Order: sequence, then structure tokens, then C-alpha cells
Amino acid sequence: MPLSLFNRIHRSLIAGIVCAAFLSACSTAPNQNSAPREDRDPEAATGISQKDEVRTEKFMVSSANPYASQAGSKILAKGGNAIDAAIAVQLVLNLVEPQSSGIGGGAFLLYWDQQQQQLITFDGRETAPETADPNLFYETDGTPMKWIEAVVGGRSVGVPGVLKMFEKAHQQYGTLPWDTLFEEAITLAEQGFIVSPRLEKLVAASINPGLMRDGSARDYFYPNGEAIKAGQTLKNPALAKALRQIAADGTTVFYSGTIAEQIITTVNSDPDNPGQLSLQDLANYQAKVREPVCAPYRTYKICGMGPPSSGGLTVLQTMQILSHFDLAKMEPLSTESIHIITQAERLAFADRNTYIADSDFVAVPVDALLNPLYAQQRAQLIDRHQDMGKAEPGNIDSTTSWSEAQSPELPSTSHFSIVDQQGNGVSITTSIEMAFGSSLMVNGFLLNNQLTDFSFVAEKDGAKIANSVEPGKRPRSSMAPTMVFDKNGKLILLVGSPGGSRIINYVIETLVGLLDWSLSIQDAINLPHFGNRNGTTDLEKNTRLESQKSELEAMNHKVNIRDLNSGLQGINIDNSGILNGGSDPRREGLAAGQ
Ligand code: GLU
Repeated sequence: MPLSLFNRIHRSLIAGIVCAAFLSACSTAPNQNSAPREDRDPEAATGISQKDEVRTEKFMVSSANPYASQAGSKILAKGGNAIDAAIAVQLVLNLVEPQSSGIGGGAFLLYWDQQQQQLITFDGRETAPETADPNLFYETDGTPMKWIEAVVGGRSVGVPGVLKMFEKAHQQYGTLPWDTLFEEAITLAEQGFIVSPRLEKLVAASINPGLMRDGSARDYFYPNGEAIKAGQTLKNPALAKALRQIAADGTTVFYSGTIAEQIITTVNSDPDNPGQLSLQDLANYQAKVREPVCAPYRTYKICGMGPPSSGGLTVLQTMQILSHFDLAKMEPLSTESIHIITQAERLAFADRNTYIADSDFVAVPVDALLNPLYAQQRAQLIDRHQDMGKAEPGNIDSTTSWSEAQSPELPSTSHFSIVDQQGNGVSITTSIEMAFGSSLMVNGFLLNNQLTDFSFVAEKDGAKIANSVEPGKRPRSSMAPTMVFDKNGKLILLVGSPGGSRIINYVIETLVGLLDWSLSIQDAINLPHFGNRNGTTDLEKNTRLESQKSELEAMNHKVNIRDLNSGLQGINIDNSGILNGGSDPRREGLAAGQ
């Protein structure tokens, strides 16, 4: 069966289950706006060429995989809240989209408490071992390692934060018993799930060189030496067993029990690239509640995750600069609008690369970066007709001066958005970093390589780099789970994406699509992508944007046409309270609910 056909069947099957099982008013509206995306890089296409916007009245889950959206919807239908559903979604994603996220990784979660009218942000980012130092990613000859060489094996593994983060969120806000949230993932792991085309493709492409090494990951993804195939039923009894333990006993078994011991042994005895995690590192891990970062944008308020993620601040800085331009008057995706947005992105990325890191270790000038007067000054640097070239960071009144961080990021990761029956919301981005993480698999889950999000180089031109490795520190992230509120403080939008530091560009474009160009959530997600991370202006391959290359070049942009494999998953709540779900046609996601 052709993969695209399989994929459509798979999707409509699950969508049918979700909508039918709840006898819901779940409806879909056809969308004409998305381009076919069959032939992308191995990170990309799954054969889905079009997605329909989903509308529901009571609750919704928009996640990267139909099984996960279904699991979350079941919890919400039982009366669970958004935090309960988020746990169920994450555990199923760990099983069915193992390349992207899981209990071996980290996450940032925004929770909107409707009753208290309060936004809380949870930081479940990985931490570096206590013995790590700024030389973690240097070769013995004193040169920095090549990124890909640092990814595979134990060296890049940070203490996973996902479970502690969810435990904290659940203790504070959960309503259903902890163990019930594990049921769907355990059942699927024991009885098997259907491998998706994207998972097949990523395994077949050997995108992570570690997957073929001896060990649990190879046994799982290449049973009897054959790569797993889309359509086949795959079971993960090791994961089911681990989840049963964590469901019954809480996270202790993971952070100081038998699972902790297995993690440490696997990480530290890696034959090629041993790590240095200790039982103490795991036992000491703490998920944190942080202050959200928020800024006004026209009549709205946009909120995101603060440091150690750069995602929220950089999205907000860009939007604040953009508020000095009348984007609504510009044609969506006109060369003029692309020019202005990429210039604002350049300016915000220049600050990001210099100032943002783990604020428990370095003083991140959050208030100065979000000062509206500063945004106004930065906006004045934009020439409407010429690309500005490499933007310099602003002269922020910061106690220390930092060099630009050197930390490449590759796409994997997952975002999901949830609204429950009470109007609470979750916007979470979750990651094991590279596709398949460090490639080390313990108890059926993959361990992250998140430490490669640190700068490999500790100093540049004599100045320290804010995002250098330090013991117990969290690597800077680009993950940007986002929420938008209207002028009355009502939650109207939840969105986010995977995509490394391009996450920031994807979220910005979606926000402009909705807030300035009045597009529906699905149409905004479908927009062909463009973006600038203070370098080239990237235009999405095989889209109508290709035709704007020469106009942009005439304005001095260095244009790069490439795949831009976002995985945006969003929910827009309209004036009448209807939930409109959008899913990125570039991946396998689905919005579902009742
Ligand atoms: N590790 C990246 C971060 O935390 C995300 C990687 C991705 O989106 O693929 O920013």
C-alpha cells in the first residue's frame, strides 16, 4: 500500500474513533491552502498533503500523533483536566513517536488555570551532571567536538526532567489519579501500535548514526536486522513494564530506584562516548515553576516560557518590534511583509544568541529585553528596502558581556496543545533533542542528547559564553510553547512547534497569520514558511515563496530555499467559545476532541 494512502487511512481511522467514540460534534472544514509535501528530506514528509481544521465545543487535543490525541481526548471525556490529559498524551507520544520526546527527555509546559485566571509555567529541562565542566564537548587535543560526534552515546545525556515536571504539575493541578493517566500508553505498548510512515522513514534514513550500534535501540528499531516498517504492529513490553512501575510507585523508581540505576549504567558505560551522570544527579533533579514571560502585541497579550528557553523571549522581542509596522495592511507573505518580519527576527536572534541562557546561572536581562522603548529603538534599525545584514546584539545594561553562543540544533521534538472542559489550557513543547536523542535506550525509552544544546565553546574573543556548560545547569532551548490572550484576558490561542531554533520563526509566522492576517489556525499553520535566524533568509522549498527569491535578493537578502519541517499544533478559541484545532500538514499530527 502506498504510504500516503496508508497514512490517510490511519488518520481517518483514528479521527473516526475519537469523534465517533464520544458522539461528538467534532466537525472538519476542508482547507485548500496547503501544498503537497511528498518529497522532503528524511525529517519531513509523511505523505499528508492536506489537513482539515477541526472544530469542537467542549475540549480538544492537538498533538503530533493521532494515538496521542486520542489518549488525551479520552482523559478529557472522562472529566480529567488539561494537566491530566497532557500526561496521557506525553506517555503515548513516547511510545508512538519515540524519535521526538519521552520520559528520557525534557519539556516546558504552560498551564492556564481558568478558575484562578493564572498562567503557570513549568520547567522540566534537563540538567548537566555535577561533574560537567565547560570542556565537556572538547576533544583531548583541545578542539571542540563535531556536533554529530557529541550526540551519540552517554556524554550528551542530561538528567531527564519530563516525569518530575509532570509529577509537580499533577500534584498541584491534576484531578484524575496518577496511575490512570498511564493506562492508554501501557495498553498500547503491550498490545502494540501501528508504526507510522514518519517513524519508518526516520529509522530507514539512519538519521541518527547511533541507532545502528549494538544495543537496545538497534534491537527495537531493527528487529532481526530489519528496519521497522509503516503499518506493522510494534510492541514495547520494556516500556510497558517501566510505565507500570512509575504508575504504581510514582517517579521515585525513575529518579532513585532501579530505573535510575539502569540509566546511569547505560550512560556511563557507553563504549564510544561515555557520560558522567551519577545517581546523585538524578536524585537531585528538580522541576521548576518559573515566571512566564509576557508582552503586549497590538490588542493582545502573548505569553511564553522564560529562560532557560530562549523561545518565549525571542518570539516576544520579535513581535514587539513588529508592532511598529502595520502588518495587517500588508498582503500575507508579500515580499514587503517577509522583509520586515525577517529583519525583526534578525534583531531578536542577535540578542538571543548573546544574552539568553539558564537564568539560575547567568543574569538574563529579561526586563531590558522586553522593554517597549528598547523594541522601538530596535525597530528603527529596520530599513524598509534593504536587508540589514548581520544584526548586532543591543547594548543592554547587563552586568556581564557574553559572546554569541555556538550551539547548533537539529529538528526532532514535539508540541501539543490542550483545552479542557473547564477552559484550562496546556501548551507544551517536549524533546529528546536530536531525532532518537542520544540513541541510548533504557527500559524501552530513549535518552536525550539535550546537553548538545549548550555552547560547545566556552569562550569567544576572551568573553565568556552565557550558554556554556556548567554543573547542574540547563542548556538553552528554543522551545516556544505559546499562549495568547485577548484584551479582556481571555485565552484565545495555544501554539508551538518543533524545529530547533527555527521553532521561533514558525511560531512568529503563525502568530502574525492569526493576529494580523486574520487567518484561521489551520490556514496560519499551512502558510509556506520563511524565516531568518540572523543569517540567511530561508524560504520553504516547493512553495510559492520560491518565486520571491529574486525580489528578496534585490533587497540584499541572502536567500536559501530549503525544507522547513515545522510541526505546529495549535488551538484557537473563537469568540463563541468554539475550539478550532490546527495540525501541521508537514507531519502526522491530528486535532481531536468533542
Ligand atoms: N533541543 C531543541 C531545543 O530545546 C529542540 C530541538 C528541536 O526542536 O528539534 O530548543
